[in-house]
Amino acid sequence: MIATDSSPTRQTCHAILQEVFGYAQFRGPQQAIVEHVANGGDALVLMPTGGGKSLCYQIPAIARARAGQGLTIVISPLIALMHDQVGALHEAGVSAAFLNSTLSSDEAYQVEQRMLRGDITLLYAAPERVTTPRFLAQLDSLHDRGQLSLFAIDEAHCVSQWGHDFRPEYRALTVLHERYAGVPRMALTATADDLTRADILERLQLQDARAFVSSFDRPNIRYTIVEKTDGTQQLLRFIAREHEGNAGIVYCQSRKKVESIAETLVEAGINALPYHAGLDSKLRQQHQDRFLREEGVVMVATIAFGMGIDKPDVRFVAHLDMPKNIEGYYQETGRAGRDGLPADAWMAYGLQDVVNQRRMIDESPAADAFKQALRGKLDALLALAEATDCRRVRLLSYFGEASQPCGNCDNCLHPPAVWDGTDAARKLLSTIYRIQQSSGMAFGAGHVMDIVRGKTTEKVTQYGHEALSTFGIGAGFTELQLRGVLRQLIAMGAVAVDAQAFNTLQLTEQSRAVLKGEVSVQLRESVSAPTDRKRRSGAGSAAIKAPIALDGAGLERYAALKAWRAEVAREHNLPAYVIFHDATLAAIAKRAPQTLDDLQGISGIGAKKLEAYAQAVLRVVSID
Ligand code: ADP
Ligand code: ZN
Repeated sequence: MIATDSSPTRQTCHAILQEVFGYAQFRGPQQAIVEHVANGGDALVLMPTGGGKSLCYQIPAIARARAGQGLTIVISPLIALMHDQVGALHEAGVSAAFLNSTLSSDEAYQVEQRMLRGDITLLYAAPERVTTPRFLAQLDSLHDRGQLSLFAIDEAHCVSQWGHDFRPEYRALTVLHERYAGVPRMALTATADDLTRADILERLQLQDARAFVSSFDRPNIRYTIVEKTDGTQQLLRFIAREHEGNAGIVYCQSRKKVESIAETLVEAGINALPYHAGLDSKLRQQHQDRFLREEGVVMVATIAFGMGIDKPDVRFVAHLDMPKNIEGYYQETGRAGRDGLPADAWMAYGLQDVVNQRRMIDESPAADAFKQALRGKLDALLALAEATDCRRVRLLSYFGEASQPCGNCDNCLHPPAVWDGTDAARKLLSTIYRIQQSSGMAFGAGHVMDIVRGKTTEKVTQYGHEALSTFGIGAGFTELQLRGVLRQLIAMGAVAVDAQAFNTLQLTEQSRAVLKGEVSVQLRESVSAPTDRKRRSGAGSAAIKAPIALDGAGLERYAALKAWRAEVAREHNLPAYVIFHDATLAAIAKRAPQTLDDLQGISGIGAKKLEAYAQAVLRVVSID
């Protein structure tokens, strides 16, 4: 479409960014997207979590409404989040509403009336609602009057069967194109893979839309993968050392583990809550609300938790169990640090993870070709976990992006010592072979390592394994070292774990190459308890941490502002970050404003918030 004089211009969009949202600059491709859509173009937006997708449709919606083009419909499957999303727009002075099953029929009727009167700029609705005959009839009426401005289809990967969030209702959205061909549509998602992308284009008929593909890098997230020794204790140390009082998410694989870890964290004085699909839905909702609204809650959860959670100040995501693939890992860790401030992605990973994940694939009823694909994806994640070079380079290259070592992952910050485990690997493999030869039986990892290290256990004696020629050939290795080598061998597929037979170890096709010395096994030096990392600069005192460096008085102001914000958030029944982000409060605390003018130009204070809160803020920071 060609921009005409009456169409919103670059300046209009920029003015809205500053005036409504209080931000000085667009991020990355936001400006191009916003302009394109405001001018009536169709768009596909692929942007990582935290990239700033919301503004990509909110600003065109506001610009087009101001130009008299009427209503924008935002389609999202995340009903539970609509209330807060709309609340955030109200705080910024934008007229918005939502229609979903949480409203009474009377409330829904009121919203419909406002919509038909043209009183709403952005309407959030679930896909099943949008495609009802009743709602379509209302859209017809708006459309006939030229008051249907834009469709924004959020979480657009839900249309794809390949994704993990397939929602059949999304398929019905083709009606939008068929019925309102002239109304621009944009689809947004953080799921980047090619299959999903092709599906979105086809299913939502966006073949002619302009695609905006962002870098998937999240530079503020620090990736760390540690070797699992006593996972729970490692997690406790990690939280105590780096994230006291911070909001975070801890992912575990099973419901049972979620419950027990949450309990352990609570006992350690951490404000932790469990979340999994087995909890009563009311309780689950209540825990989610507390996570969003209270400060410093740690959610211990299965992967049932997190989709669409747009809390910007999640400071860490920890994995106590390994996800299935890099896509899952990246999506889950991506929930940290949406506000752009430093955040951690931390994972503890061990032999058992490798065994479990392999077993789940082996035991699944899927077709062989599909299992093979799953194994390939798991292998990529294992390679990431075992890597001794930059984690980010590997992650990004998995998504097809080339990059340079990042300086913000464990391997960049503390390059690990590498040792050659080939010799140990051959000793382990030949022991598995000898056991098999002598007794026709297979044994588990513990027993094999005992033989290699020459330990005369009861079991060793029972089976006469001290007579094996490999007994004690690896006496110089620690158990931790051998465990690392075995993990690597299993990760490489050079040892198989038979889940049907007590997790016993077997040789595979690939074992031969290692035995013959054709393949070397490189390992990171096992660091069971990593030495304390330096606290990040600006971390402040233990009592309260601010996202930027503040002096004593500044920290006091920051604390006072946070207390004030909590009160306002409670009154408005909204999460605190919807009122002001931490970064905004910290900037105010640093500037110590005395007048309205002093508040100008602080990121995150738009016109409406200035009007609503400036007096209170000035009062709060003037208290000595
Ligand atoms: P996404 O939906 O892509 O995960 P959001 O739209 O929730 O991301 O944006 C993430 C955070 O970044 C939000 O808190 C938002 O206010 C902030 N943000 C987005 N764009 C900008 C910008 N241009 N300048 C400053 N902050 C921004
Ligand atoms: Zn790095």
